[in-house]
Amino acid sequence: MMLADFHVHSTFSDGKLTIPAVVDLYGQRGFGAIAITDHVGESRTVIGKAAGHLGLCLTKATFPLYLEILKSEAERAWRLYRMVVIPGVELSKNSISNYRSAHIIALGIKKFMSADGDVADIARNIRNEGAISIAAHPVDSGKFEKQTYHLWNRRFELAQAFDAWEVASGDRLFPEVLNSSLPKIASSDLHIARHMTSWKTLLDCERHPEAILDSIKKQKLSFRFYRDSKNDNIHSDIHSGYGSLVESRSYRSSFGDYRQSLA
Ligand SMILES: [Zn+2]
Ligand SMILES: [Zn+2]
Repeated sequence: MMLADFHVHSTFSDGKLTIPAVVDLYGQRGFGAIAITDHVGESRTVIGKAAGHLGLCLTKATFPLYLEILKSEAERAWRLYRMVVIPGVELSKNSISNYRSAHIIALGIKKFMSADGDVADIARNIRNEGAISIAAHPVDSGKFEKQTYHLWNRRFELAQAFDAWEVASGDRLFPEVLNSSLPKIASSDLHIARHMTSWKTLLDCERHPEAILDSIKKQKLSFRFYRDSKNDNIHSDIHSGYGSLVESRSYRSSFGDYRQSLA
């Protein structure tokens, strides 16, 4: 049984932690797998070009270094923590209209992926590259931030195009996704250490990238709310020490109590 988080940002886009800092954050807490998923913006839109220029997105120029660091950090994460690090990106189509905006996560990438073109073509392209496609925060995130409704509005047409849809992002669980028949995944969309307190995915498979991606595709997973005592300002007065608590709130919790399996 392992805790996993498949939506994490670093300083290669708009995250505040470097990739090594992210690896240590999760590794020291006993996670079995994470994916680093920095933003790639559209190359032809003003918003996309501006984000690249400001360093808020990966570009073709920064991407080779990103992959190189991910490779060396994956080796370090395995050596130190027996944690798998999966290379990913979040292909980000940001429009003034929330209904034209969409964020798509690709996991298990081997080369630069473009955020240009229609979302159906992007999803197909991700699979053609042997990666898996995830619809990120497809409904109202409840946060004061850009909303991305495009994928959800086309969910019937796109149902087969994505390997999973985020049923939770950060501390928000999305009832619309939970009550749908779409394949699901829960991730933190971590940008700062405090975002560790969030919904995560639990897997019961070998600690190997292919086995992990296969579990997502076959939906052999469950979701747990993870509360991090060290970085949770609100609860730091209640829980002391470095460890973390996994709350009993869970969905499809056929795996029993995770706290016991940690012992
Ligand atoms: Zn996003
Ligand atoms: Zn994100």
